[in-house]
Amino acid sequence: MGRPTISGGTPGVLQGAAPRRPLTAVRTLLRVPDDVPLATLPVSAAGAALFVAAVFLFVSTDPSVSTVVGSLALLGAALLAEAFPVPIEGVAAGRTSLANIFIVGAAVIYGWTEASIVGALTMGLVELAHRRPLSRITFNTGLYTLAAGAAGAAAALASGTGLLALLLATALASGAFYLVDITLLSAVIAEATLRPFPRVYGRSMYSTVVPFAIMTSLAAILVVLWDRSPYIAVALAGPLVAIALYERRVHAVLERLRELDRLKNEFIAIVSHELRTPVASVYGATMTLQQRELDEKRRDSLLSVIFTESARLARLVEQVVWASRFEAGHARLRLERCEPLRLTEEVIKAARLHLPPTLSIELSANAPSPVLADPERVRQVLVNLLDNAVKFSPEGGRIDVAIDGSDGNVRFAVRDEGIGIPPREQARIFEKFHRLDPNLTRGVGGTGLGLYICQELVREMNGRIWVDSRENEGSTFLFELPRA
Ligand code: ADP
Repeated sequence: MGRPTISGGTPGVLQGAAPRRPLTAVRTLLRVPDDVPLATLPVSAAGAALFVAAVFLFVSTDPSVSTVVGSLALLGAALLAEAFPVPIEGVAAGRTSLANIFIVGAAVIYGWTEASIVGALTMGLVELAHRRPLSRITFNTGLYTLAAGAAGAAAALASGTGLLALLLATALASGAFYLVDITLLSAVIAEATLRPFPRVYGRSMYSTVVPFAIMTSLAAILVVLWDRSPYIAVALAGPLVAIALYERRVHAVLERLRELDRLKNEFIAIVSHELRTPVASVYGATMTLQQRELDEKRRDSLLSVIFTESARLARLVEQVVWASRFEAGHARLRLERCEPLRLTEEVIKAARLHLPPTLSIELSANAPSPVLADPERVRQVLVNLLDNAVKFSPEGGRIDVAIDGSDGNVRFAVRDEGIGIPPREQARIFEKFHRLDPNLTRGVGGTGLGLYICQELVREMNGRIWVDSRENEGSTFLFELPRA
């Protein structure tokens, strides 16, 4: 389990906790699993007891129809708010549930019994629907029940029925809910993370106090409107839904911006890393050629280094250019009738010139009818797939290229006997910059742009590309293009 966190501002709920130093004796006595903080036990137990007492009192006082309907309406609103928490910018952890506006409302309007029931059912039902672990369901439900009960008790301290009394009751209820929630939660987090309680408490308060203040004022608006007429209080639904939707949209846009920023940094890091090696090799080889008297063999070997490394540089620049064309939507392809067999033969012929001596490439073709495609781009896709097959083939490996035109489309397949790709990675390798081995532990470089470009090119030619692979057995990359 990861670090326990508070979800959103108020009310906080437990996201995950794993104590690193269990109080072994108590744990064994009570048979508590290692991943459940002991501090959750009294909260779960007290919450359950309060819930039972609240239900008993509620039923035995024979509540009026309006109280039952009103409580159900507040429960419905709280459930919706808890089920669809709002991401609030600036609140570090997770999303913020607005449910406590309605739980605090129930506390002020009806009292602690109704509030405890609404609080317990809100959290319990949502946690059950999310199929959380039992210990988490009981703790978070207990937390809400106790906080709601405390809110009801605090609201009862404000006597009178005037506007000021209502506002005071709401402020007290909201404050009590917040304090109980954050205090109990901080105790659990402090135990689970072995950090001092005051530090955890201070941090929790700091990160949740602003949403708490906003929700207190929303609860006050709800209570005052409800006091006039519960029907008028429904008017609050519109602005609340609008705020929630707006916050979600803003958050999604910010997430996208952060993702783009991350991609940009990754791009700069990868490209500069990939540029460094060939540039250094070309530079070193040229210096040696300039400065020394060299025999023919040595000269040829250095010229071959310059040739290979400049080709690598050219390929890198080409990849960057294509990636930015797709980004900008400027990729223009010229579709025409072309012969798949001839194109593939040319690509294989060129690949064989630089093929490591232990590898072999074989071609087979079955009814390769002409395709409607851009011949240069078909070449580019084949070159990339063959490059990868060579890079990931074991010594002595065989690479098979097949063209099959017996269906409605013409299918190209490049098969290798290499390391293969795990199933969970098979879709992701077509994403920009995605590499299985970004730390280059196998010594195989690359930008992770090649398959992304292949996918975009094949898509532009109205075809599709996919992979069929088994780990340690090999991979087959397939793409289909429409017949001419
Ligand atoms: P690059 O341009 O860096 O080669 P690609 O987009 O072509 O990147 O490939 C992305 C990743 O997919 C590679 O880093 C590699 O991990 C994996 N991959 C691609 N082709 C093969 C293959 N034939 N066998 C095993 N893994 C492959």
